[in-house]
Formats: sequence, C-alpha cells, structure tokens
Amino acid sequence: MGNQVVVVTGGARGIGYGIAECFAEKGASLVLADVNGERAQESAERLGALGAAGAIGLECDVSNRAQVAAMVEEACREFGRIDVLVNNAGICPFVDVMDLDPEVFAKTIDVNLMGAYHCTHLVAQKMIAQGEGGRIVFITSLAENVTGPAQVDYGASKGGMRMLMVGFATRLGRHGITCNAIAPGMILTDMTRSHWEQPGPAEEIKHRVPMGRIGVPRDIGHAAVFLASNEAEYVNGITLRVDGGHQAVCA
Ligand code: NDP
Repeated sequence: MGNQVVVVTGGARGIGYGIAECFAEKGASLVLADVNGERAQESAERLGALGAAGAIGLECDVSNRAQVAAMVEEACREFGRIDVLVNNAGICPFVDVMDLDPEVFAKTIDVNLMGAYHCTHLVAQKMIAQGEGGRIVFITSLAENVTGPAQVDYGASKGGMRMLMVGFATRLGRHGITCNAIAPGMILTDMTRSHWEQPGPAEEIKHRVPMGRIGVPRDIGHAAVFLASNEAEYVNGITLRVDGGHQAVCA
C-alpha cells in the first residue's frame, strides 16, 4: 500500500492536489499530470514534506491522447510502474445551455469524458502488462445523475464518465484492476470558490448539507485512498458519494 505509484490528473491544485496529499501521507509516489505543468511541478515539490516517496509534476492536457501517452511513458520511466490512476482533471464552464457555444460543449466532453477515456485506456494497458492488478478512480460529480440548465454539458460529461467507469470495470476486473467513481458534493476549490464564499450560498450550505459544512479536497482524498487500498479489492464498478449527505436530503 505504502509504495504505490499514483497518477493524479489535474493534480496541481484543488481536489486533485488534496487527493495527492492523502496518498503522500501514506508514503506513495505521485505523478501530478496537469495542463499547467509549472504549477504541477511546484505542487509536487510540496509532497515530499508530507511523506511521499517521490513526486513529479508533468504537463499534460488529458484531452490530447499524444500528451497522455507521453505522460504515461514518463511516469513509468521515473517510477517503474503505475499502480493507481485518479481521473480527476475536469472543467465546468457553467453557462446556460441555450447560450452555450457548440465548441464549449465539445470541450467539456473532450476534457472530462475523452480525457478520462485516454488516461484509462493507456494506463490500463500498462497495468495489464505489469500483471499485478491496479486501481482506477474516476472523480465524477453528483451531476453524473442530476444536473441543471447551466450544467448540461457538464452533466452529460459526468454521466458519460460514470458509464465509462462501469464499462471499464466489466473489462478490467479479470486483470485484478478495479474501477470506481467518487461523486463529490460541494467542495471548496478554485472551481467553486467565487460562488460558495458569497454570504448567501455560504449560509445555504448549512441548511442543504446535513454535515453543516462545505467539503474540502481532503474529504475526497481519503475516499480515494480507500478505493485504492488492498481492503477495497472486491469493490468494483460503484460510485461512492462523498457529499456530507447532500443528496440524501429530499426537501
Ligand atoms: P479546479 O479547477 O480547482 O482544479 C482542476 C485542475 O485540473 C486544475 O489544476 C486545472 O488546471 C486542471 N485541468 C483543467 N483542464 C485540464 C486538462 N485538459 N488536462 C489536465 N488538467 C486539466 O477543479 P476542482 O478541483 O474543483 O475539480 C476537480 C474535479 O472534481 C473535476 O473533475 C470536477 O468536475 C470534480 N468535481 C468538483 C466539485 C467541486 O465542488 N469542486 C464537485 C464535484 C465534482 P488549470 O487550473 O490550469 O485549468
């Protein structure tokens, strides 16, 4: 468990970095693959102090298959193998669907859905060749099931990502590779900060979330560490909601 090699896409900040922190504390080696290569390297440098056996930051746009292939090769050159992939990189333009350019719709699908496909397809080939199983975690969203007018592209991408996870789970289980999703609730990151730090929404959290607080990236990190553990060997093809009970509230 402690010596796992873990690739986190979009790992330079936000939920991805919180996930990397939690793996670092378990002594893992981390590859932060992010469209912002400079920030990925800076973030990787901080992980040693938390206990990471090693950490590198690589520039990689997950929607570009050639860049994903190069990232996977570089990760294997540096650490010899990949044990865990966390498909975390994602975007959410948050524009009403009737005003949304088709190009923006396509980009959301390209990054969130195609990106997870490229990473999973290429990393799974390495894991199968290694012959020791593996763990693949997809960071979806409550939007894998429900969405709204300004998140039609996002909901389509996350619903698709859930079925991508389920489909790969059916194919990769025979190799000892599990695929699962984490659906975060409302998590305070740069993607959501401008909304949740306004007085109204901040107050709303207390009423809408039974735990009475907004989530933090490490809430998702701890769940990812569990899904990547030996103890989760027989957990395959599920979505684990980490939302403080948000979706359990029906009124
Ligand atoms: P952030 O925007 O804070 O961080 C996302 C990271 O991914 C950034 O470093 C970003 O780089 C990087 N990134 C963006 N596009 C690409 C790409 N094409 N290739 C590689 N890296 C990329 O987002 P969050 O941490 O909030 O979200 C992380 C994941 O969690 C996403 O998939 C999101 O949909 C999901 N999620 C988030 C929730 C929340 O409340 N925050 C709720 C539910 C799900 P850059 O900053 O340079 O763009």
